[in-house]
Amino acid sequence: MMKRIGVLTSGGDAQGMNAAVRAVVRMALDKNVQVYAIYEGYQGMVNGGDQIRPFTWTNVGGILQQGGTVIGTARCAEFRERSGRLKAVHNLIINGIDALVVIGGDGSLTGANFLYEEWPSLVEELVAAGQISPEMAANHPHIQIAGIIGSIDNDMYGSDVTTGSDTALHRIVEATDAISSTAASHQRIFVVEVMGRRCGYLALMGAMAGGADWVFIPENPPDIDNWEEKMCEVLHLGREAGRRDIIVMVAEGAQDRYGQPITSDRIKQVLEERLGEETRITVLGHVQRGGAPSAFDRNLSTLLGAAAVDYLLAAEGPEAPFVMGIRGNKISRTPLAEALAKTQAVAEASREQNYAEAMRLRGSSFNESFQIVRTLVRALPHPPTPGQRRMRIAVLNAGGPAPGMNTAVRTAVRLGTDKGHIMLGVQNGFRGLIKGDIREMNWMSVSGWASQGGAELGTNRYIAEGSDFYAIARSLEEHKIDGLLVIGGWSGYENVLNMIAQRPTFPANNIPIVCVPASINNNLPGAELSIGADTALNNIVQAVDKIKQSAVASRRVFVVEVMGRNCGYLALMSALATGAERFYTNEEGVTTSNLLDDVHELAEGFSKGKRLGLIIRNESANRIYTTSFISALFEEEGGDLFDVREAILGHLQQGGNPSPFDRILATRLASHAVNHLEQLIDAGETTCACLGQVGGSLLFTAMEDVPRMFDMAKKRPKKQWWLNLRPIARVLAKPAPQ
Ligand code: ADP
Repeated sequence: MMKRIGVLTSGGDAQGMNAAVRAVVRMALDKNVQVYAIYEGYQGMVNGGDQIRPFTWTNVGGILQQGGTVIGTARCAEFRERSGRLKAVHNLIINGIDALVVIGGDGSLTGANFLYEEWPSLVEELVAAGQISPEMAANHPHIQIAGIIGSIDNDMYGSDVTTGSDTALHRIVEATDAISSTAASHQRIFVVEVMGRRCGYLALMGAMAGGADWVFIPENPPDIDNWEEKMCEVLHLGREAGRRDIIVMVAEGAQDRYGQPITSDRIKQVLEERLGEETRITVLGHVQRGGAPSAFDRNLSTLLGAAAVDYLLAAEGPEAPFVMGIRGNKISRTPLAEALAKTQAVAEASREQNYAEAMRLRGSSFNESFQIVRTLVRALPHPPTPGQRRMRIAVLNAGGPAPGMNTAVRTAVRLGTDKGHIMLGVQNGFRGLIKGDIREMNWMSVSGWASQGGAELGTNRYIAEGSDFYAIARSLEEHKIDGLLVIGGWSGYENVLNMIAQRPTFPANNIPIVCVPASINNNLPGAELSIGADTALNNIVQAVDKIKQSAVASRRVFVVEVMGRNCGYLALMSALATGAERFYTNEEGVTTSNLLDDVHELAEGFSKGKRLGLIIRNESANRIYTTSFISALFEEEGGDLFDVREAILGHLQQGGNPSPFDRILATRLASHAVNHLEQLIDAGETTCACLGQVGGSLLFTAMEDVPRMFDMAKKRPKKQWWLNLRPIARVLAKPAPQ
């Protein structure tokens, strides 16, 4: 018998839930499976009637960019009781639903687990009460459930990140960026309270991304009794060192090590009393749940929705529920019972004041982030230990500007200085290295850089040649540079490869070098994601949302051109996040028959009532079939059915403050790079490597391996993981089946 899938959103709403619902509905329909929306979470399941409705392709049109959930969510007390779940099972069975996608937090998924476990006995009870026939019962012996974690707090085991947490961080970072400027103007202290009763993810990552000066999280309270004194001392020193804005980030569930709450009011009182400084509190509250979902949340939720349908359709027999999640950039599945147990274990450890265990259970990258933030919030670096080797590490940017470059430089300078080393900033990339334009940087010279877009050090795509290498070697010698950190795009990597090749002539080049990927194009070797790409993607998605809205009253097709050079990452990911009908990339190329097929398909759609079409074209998709060419072709072929407008997004894609994701990535990469350089210098090694996030871990790849992995002509990696997402993007944007 063909399955029938029900989908619901439950508990606290989270941005991205709509994308998940859309993906579930369309992937199911594409496989000829009927799908029902269950309105208002478990309440609709208990109520039944028209709160359980079959959904069509068009029911989920135009919802990708909306916050919240269009099918409603609720907290349902009745469902907590067996009697409520009995009604729910009855309603599911009379609608023929035997598979569910539950999108919600740990409460909702706990409820889902009960539903699965009790299903057979509830069905028996319904038969005994004469509410369903034995045949109906026999047709629905069990329920299959796939969970998707919708939770802005990112407080559940089973996924590196959960639907909604990236957008919540966007809201937090927008707010802290705005507060920083007013705080700086008045030299005030702001206490910013963010959500997270049991989980400090938002506070910790918000502090990391927002460059906050102190942070309190529930699972790792201050390890001393007099935290008030310590905090005031550090903030006071920060003021003395010239810090104008001070932000203290606090999770709503923050506590001291005896489990007593550390509230924002208490922090304000302490700061005013002890520092005599005017302190304001901003409780971000529901703003964090609001607004349009970020590009990341749209795409994450879309992929999880698609994975949930795949899993349900493949599952046979009674199989305990799974949660869909993401590990690295791969979709993963975890048994729901395990995910719930591990989530509860953190809460339990925290309740029992076993904070070491709570932190251990949060995982290594959470712990690492905590350590990094702890160092970054210091007012001043640790003084160098007497007799320690003070290394001289130079930092430079290369390639086009990528939002997050400053964040990475700030982290490198602060962490390096804190280790007692001398951090040198090279101005204007490799041109500066050639000219010897190199200055010592200190703790305060990178103040405020965490949130700044652009590249304060200056960056360009210059490739060193000929006598430049002599000049570079001289600069390295004159400034006694022990190691070099290159944060940038392909031209940076190319320069480093050339420097390695020139080592026999210029022994000064025999120093360790680390390249950190920073390019909006996301085309760098050894890295699944480069710093800046997420910001660019969000810039594109926000622009396209507006462009789409501008066409409300007309029948129109937009051809939007995005950057990326020969790499189609931005085109594909923005198509996925905006629901574009087509995307053209250099990897796939464009042919006239593609274009004609596409325009005819669009024309057919418009003839049946479609009002808006969206095509995203990578700037280098095809040399001849330019954006203008495609627009003209579509205009002509579309006849009276639609008109066509082109939008070349241009440099707005590179601009703006870095997204939280890019700031976090930049911070983590820079931290690893500095540690690695320090180790190499200490060991007298001269290896050169590039760093990147691969499969969820940060890995180094030897520069010697880069030519093998990289398509030098196209300037992109030979293998690109995101190309696998093409089929999903295609299915979801198909015209509605008739
Ligand atoms: P979230 O899913 O965001 O954690 P809640 O904890 O409020 O939000 O849970 C949402 C809904 O899930 C509840 O209103 C209830 O209907 C159901 N639910 C939560 N916990 C349970 C439970 N232990 N047993 C059955 N249903 C539950």
